[in-house]
Amino acid sequence: MSTSTSATIASTAEVPKVNLLGLTRAQMEQFFLDQGEKKFRAQQVLKWIHHAGVIDIEQMSNLGKALREKLQRVAEVRPPEIVSQHDSADGTRKWAVRVDGGGLVETVLIPDRERATLCVSSQVGCSLDCSFCSTGKQGFQRDLSAAEIIGQVWLAIKSYDAFQSGKGRIVTNVVMMGMGEPLMNFDNVVSAMNLMMEDLAYGISKRRVTLSTSGVVPALDRLAEVSEASLAVSLHAPNDALRNELVPINRKYPIARLLESCRNYIDAQSDNKRVVTVEYTLIAGVNDQLEHARELAELLRDFPCKINLIPFNPFSQSDYRRPSGNAVSRFWQVLVDAGYIVTVRTTRGDDIDAACGQLVGQVVDRTRRSERYRNAAENQATKAG
Ligand code: SAH
Ligand code: SF4
Repeated sequence: MSTSTSATIASTAEVPKVNLLGLTRAQMEQFFLDQGEKKFRAQQVLKWIHHAGVIDIEQMSNLGKALREKLQRVAEVRPPEIVSQHDSADGTRKWAVRVDGGGLVETVLIPDRERATLCVSSQVGCSLDCSFCSTGKQGFQRDLSAAEIIGQVWLAIKSYDAFQSGKGRIVTNVVMMGMGEPLMNFDNVVSAMNLMMEDLAYGISKRRVTLSTSGVVPALDRLAEVSEASLAVSLHAPNDALRNELVPINRKYPIARLLESCRNYIDAQSDNKRVVTVEYTLIAGVNDQLEHARELAELLRDFPCKINLIPFNPFSQSDYRRPSGNAVSRFWQVLVDAGYIVTVRTTRGDDIDAACGQLVGQVVDRTRRSERYRNAAENQATKAG
């Protein structure tokens, strides 16, 4: 007995445990087949984790004792850790979530009448460096795993104690609009979105799971083959000259290519009523003039879309300003007159820094920044010495 236990400990110490939280149905089935078990075990485990919110394998009572013991040796169900939780006066709730290796990302739940939209992060930081985005200013640290992405949905529901509670759905919609560029973390984002839509997991309809991209065109082309999620595209400018300044990836994949790729994505979907949400962050004096609105209306003529205007949310490292309410209205009116469906994103969670582009994992980021500066200073000192 003691020999076999120590042998087990020795072997598990070498092989890291598989985190079952991030496995899609197909991956979970393969996992059980690889273990010499029946495929249907995958369904049971998916339901325990994502319907019942159970992460202790010991409590998965329909698996049988021997299987539970075996599972505990090779696998675990490990959500990321909540570092802090803030509630806004308007009902918005924001979590700072620690992921493996110490990085920090943010997740926000925005209730709105019968809906509640969860804004999920896909990376720690972002490499694309859009000029108006505080996440971009942090630089890129790393991709989140599928478990860390779907774990944000799990944590949100858990924090309301709403697994199987009969309270109705806590998360009705998910938008991949938190920190990071989801298409730069393709496989993990696709797996996590797959779980969001999977009936054995969260069963959210494909129309209510939205991926937002700044325009990584080759990845968007691939996405059409593997995903049915809704698409939002961060346009922010009506011409390449301006977009090159705001969204640097435009220099690689200009607007015409991006819109063509979006159209292909929509065309590849089984239902033909899909449209792309065009996101346009309005920055005072930069892209919010009437001529920009007219040019945008012209650019998007015949493009299957609705337009979402996002008044810029200021943050400390940016000199950009939010346009006045009047400027936003005037811009909106031009587009409405041109026949578009246009929404203006109201700022939510202002008091807890939960608005678009304000997600920076502040506490740890400051620490990390100061650490970076300190390390740099120490390096300098060592060199000098
Ligand atoms: N990387 C993806 C998704 C994350 S950003 C993307 O760029 O689409 C989510 C949305 O917030 C994008 O439309 C982005 O342009 C917008 N955003 C970023 N910073 C902002 C800010 N400071 N104010 C308003 N919107 C911002
Ligand atoms: Fe990255 Fe999106 Fe921010 Fe651009 S707007 S830096 S793509 S997170």
